[in-house]
Amino acid sequence: MSAAEPSPAPDDQGVMLTHPDRVYWPDVGITKAGLADYYTAVWPRMAPFITDRPLALLRCPEGIGGTRFFQKNAWKGMNSHILALDDPHGDPHGHLIGIHDLGGLMGLVQGAALEIHPWGASCADLERPDQLVMDLDPGEDVGWVAVMAAAREVRARLEARGLVAFVKTSGGKGLHVVAPLEPVADWDRVKTFAHTLAQAMAADSPERFVTTVSKAKRHGRILLDYLRNQRGATSMAPYSARARATAPVSMPVAWAELDMLTGPAQFTLGNTVERLASQQADPWAGFHAARRPIAPDTP
Ligand code: ATP
Ligand code: MN
Ligand code: MN
Repeated sequence: MSAAEPSPAPDDQGVMLTHPDRVYWPDVGITKAGLADYYTAVWPRMAPFITDRPLALLRCPEGIGGTRFFQKNAWKGMNSHILALDDPHGDPHGHLIGIHDLGGLMGLVQGAALEIHPWGASCADLERPDQLVMDLDPGEDVGWVAVMAAAREVRARLEARGLVAFVKTSGGKGLHVVAPLEPVADWDRVKTFAHTLAQAMAADSPERFVTTVSKAKRHGRILLDYLRNQRGATSMAPYSARARATAPVSMPVAWAELDMLTGPAQFTLGNTVERLASQQADPWAGFHAARRPIAPDTP
């Protein structure tokens, strides 16, 4: 740092944000300090989904227009508020990334983590997921109405199996349907369960759904991406920013709201704080009380 440059100012959590004026989203003029302010505002809602679980990060040190890399392991020189987690089945020389508090989230901002992608399991038990995610990835020429209908169908099928489902925009192209789990079943079981559900949907509506990544087959269809449910896989955190133009966020919505959504990137860093302030209730308020087990033997 040159002598002329002002010293970095510690935020409320004592994390030094260097270059707070660095522009991360040039199209909407959002800076590193703006990202820190956003995450501070959504912290009470976001915290349970990102603390004490392994995180992968999309780091973009120069903002959305520059170099980007997906970071799954703790790195040398990372902020001291970020935790290095042991993975008993992982690289013995590497550590997973975790945070425990708002200081940790500010540490991620300091590390230019524009997207936060948690595992589906918490540190309390890395071998038993505490959520199931069905990632709905529309192919070309799939209308938004069809994506919303797919989410409702996933919900119905999850509920028929005794689970409770919540929905969020991806901030990209689709929707994510998330079922909170009691961490009883292991990864293999949860992945098989999600795969079976996706295959049943594709078998019943082959013109609407596919379960494998194949561009040709996906044309006009929705990929039911069940592979978020395997050990080490990640999916977008609720309230995470996306490193894309307009600064969209992955936004939890109420099922009753779904029909009114105009698209997967409707909510942004620019309109989320106002949305939260005007909400009667958190649409995902019941998430943690709604954990149910996946039975060991049901298909
Ligand atoms: P969209 O609505 O555009 O699909 P999405 O968040 O669902 O947005 P996908 O493209 O479906 O994103 O990707 C699914 C997941 O794959 C991401 O949420 C992320 O956790 C994971 N992922 C993304 N990039 C990488 C990467 N480089 N390496 C490993 N996993 C990644
Ligand atoms: Mn997706
Ligand atoms: Mn996907």
